[in-house]
Parts: sequence; structure tokens; C-alpha cells
Amino acid sequence: MSEGYSMWAEIALSRLTANFQSLNRAAGPDEVLAVAKANAYGHGVLACAPALMAAGARWLGVTSVEEALAVRAVCPTARVLVMAGPWRGEAAAMVEHGLTPSVWEPFHLEELGREARRQGLAKGSVPVHLEVDTGMARQGVRGLAALGERLAQLESTPALRIEGVMTHFSSPDELDSPETELQLSVLAEALKAIGARGHRPELVSAGNSATLVSGLGVERLRSLAHLHGARLMLRPGLALYGYPVRFMPEQVAQPELLPVLSWKARVLSLRTLEPGEPSGYNATFRAARPTRLALLRVGYADGLSRLLSNRGQVLVRGQRAPIAGRISMDQTMVDVTEIPGVEIGDEAILIGQQGEERITAYELADLSGTIPYEVLCGISARVPRVVV
Ligand code: PLP
Repeated sequence: MSEGYSMWAEIALSRLTANFQSLNRAAGPDEVLAVAKANAYGHGVLACAPALMAAGARWLGVTSVEEALAVRAVCPTARVLVMAGPWRGEAAAMVEHGLTPSVWEPFHLEELGREARRQGLAKGSVPVHLEVDTGMARQGVRGLAALGERLAQLESTPALRIEGVMTHFSSPDELDSPETELQLSVLAEALKAIGARGHRPELVSAGNSATLVSGLGVERLRSLAHLHGARLMLRPGLALYGYPVRFMPEQVAQPELLPVLSWKARVLSLRTLEPGEPSGYNATFRAARPTRLALLRVGYADGLSRLLSNRGQVLVRGQRAPIAGRISMDQTMVDVTEIPGVEIGDEAILIGQQGEERITAYELADLSGTIPYEVLCGISARVPRVVV
């Protein structure tokens, strides 16, 4: 497979489909927005977005208008939520391409309102998702006074309609988190204030993978949404790509999820070092014995963190081969001394399974002091994504 590449990422779309369907089942009556920002968490949005739609998704979530337009080109009927709001000058593209912005800043509403007037759009024809900062303190309207002002602004812009009320939790993976408790009560107050002014949002959009797979707080979110005549919309990202949520309480049964991405490289060259001979920049690796090193054409420019130098491992012939020396921009050496018969052309697995062994984005994240999100999003544009 992928004979034509010396290094590539394989994207198993059937797994993405299965993951979406498992999560959709777990969500029961709730709507599921599939988060496909950051090039579908590094998996390649042009292939993943249509696959998610074919699996039954109606909503896709991205960050920017640029990401949304890429999705729109391959998913003409998807509802696309742009979660960073419209930047100045972007309202025309949003309206023209039927993208749905999250909004909270006065200028978001000014931009959209100006565009609606310019196009003479009918009352309520531009749906927006009003984001409420319930405690994450990142984006969204903060405080009831500001909320009142934003609602007044919305009311004086008749083309805009609050279709959704959106928020984001800071600690969705923590059992009995006081933050989540507080955020839920701030959300309840905000929904009350929004309803009291006669707005009837159809969706309350809150919760990520951790919320969905754990069910923590879902009942309460759902009843809150229903109390206001709305449906709950959950927004999973990482779980779609096959990564279960970690550090979940043991009693939580997570749906089965399959990793979608495998990252592979071929052995391009082999050399044997005598004891004491170094390899790589600054000679941070020195052979302790006769050592066979294999060259992989993958480096930090491809997203393989340099922090994995002399720490990470890859799989070759179903066995673990340690990374030897500093990872370069384009090359990584691995120690295959213990693995008999390694040849030029052998497949090495950076993320994925070979035989009984498996390396996950969690493993790379732990070794490089980060989270699997950063590992996956960090796989750079020059790594070919091959759909399998
Ligand atoms: N919603 C928002 C606003 C987000 O920023 C993110 C991810 O960062 C998600 C949903 C999805 O989160 P996760 O990938 O943890 O499911």
C-alpha cells in the first residue's frame, strides 16, 4: 500500500464513519456537530468532511471562514458553524456561502447586519449562534449586562436570528467539576435572559468529546435545552478521530472508537556504527555496541516533535525501534539492531499498529509533554494524506 510514498499518513475513512455513528448513537436524541477544524484534526478535511456527511452528520464545525469555504466546496449541503465569529470583511462570504457564525462581539453583529442590509435580506434569514462565556473566559458574551446589550443589538438587526446558543466547558473530563457546575448555572441564567426577551433558539450547543462519551452533565444540558424549547447539540472532535477520552472515571463506559490515522515512513537507508560512533546533530546518540541504524525521511518539519529525540520509538517489523539521536528537519534515525532482517523499503510506523504493537498519538504526546490534539494537528501539510 502507498508504494509511491516514502512517508505518508493513511486515513481510514470507514473508521471515521464508524466513530461518528457510535457517537451519534451515544448522543441519543441530541444533535451531533462533527468538529472538523484544523484540517479535521490533521486528518485532511477534504476527505473527512464528505465522509462525515455520508455517515449522517448534518453539522460540521470549523474555526475560520477559510476553513469553512474549504468545507463548503466539498459539502454543499452541510450546515457549517464558524466558531471564531466573522472577522471584518468576512460577512459577505459567510452570507453568500450559507455559513453560520458564532457571534458575541458587537462588531460581529455590525458586520453581518451591514451585509444583510446591503443584500436586502429578509427578517430572520441569517441564523447565528450566540456564544456565551459561561466561565471558560476565552470567547463569548460575558455577564448578563453585556448579554442584554448584545440582545438589544440583535433585535435592532432584523435579518439576524438566534438559531443557537453556544458555550464551551473548561473541564468536561473532570467528574464533579466545580467549574462545570458553575458553567451550567451561568448557561441556565443566560438562556433564561435570552428567552425572557422573546428569542426562541432551536439549539443549545455545548459539550465536546469528553461530555459526549462520559455523559457527564449531558442530562442536565439536555433538560436545560428542552426547558427552553431547544435541542442539545454536542460538539465532539477528538473522539471522532478515534481517541477515547482519558482519565475518565472507571464507571464510565465509553463507546468503541477506532483510530483513523496511521503515520508511516519507509526505511530509506541503513548503516552500522561501531561502538563509540555518534549519529545526528551534536552527537547526542553514541553507539554502545555495534549498532544498526535505519533512516526515515520524516522530521520536525513534518510534525514529528524534536522533543522525541532519543525518547520516542517507531514500529518496524512489529517491534519497537528507539529513535536514535536528534530528530532533524527532514530525517530521523531509528535503532534497529534488535530487529533482524530490516531492509530498505520496510514500513516504519510512527502512529498506528503493526503486528501486536501499537503507537498512539497519546504515547507521542506523553513523551513530548503535550496532548494528542497537538500531535495530530501538527502533522504538517507536506505529509501526503492517503485515504484507505
Ligand atoms: N467545541 C469547541 C468550541 C472547541 O474549541 C473544540 C475543540 O477544541 C471542540 C468543540 C471539540 O473538542 P474535543 O476535540 O475535545 O471533542
